[in-house]
Amino acid sequence: MSDIDKKDQRICKKCLLRDFDEAAYEEQIRRFIEKLSPGDRVSHEEYEKRLLVCQSCESLVTGTCMKCGCYVELRAAGKNSRCPAKKW
Ligand code: SF4
Repeated sequence: MSDIDKKDQRICKKCLLRDFDEAAYEEQIRRFIEKLSPGDRVSHEEYEKRLLVCQSCESLVTGTCMKCGCYVELRAAGKNSRCPAKKW
């Protein structure tokens, strides 16, 4: 795929995660977090701390929390978001 083709490639809201390549998925997460207003977003340190907890949690499966069904990299970014197991 050429650079032009990649640039023009859009993320389809109806696509499954398996249809995304890894870079596109990370880009989607980054864009979502950037759209949160600073007041609604946790600090970078808090975000990383939360993800560290998720990474050692038995409920994490392929980026998804099996307790709530959320993608933890999205959920962990929100200031008002809580871990359903009260781990953060
Ligand atoms: S949000 Fe809570 S329950 Fe879900 S994977 Fe993270 S630490 Fe585990």
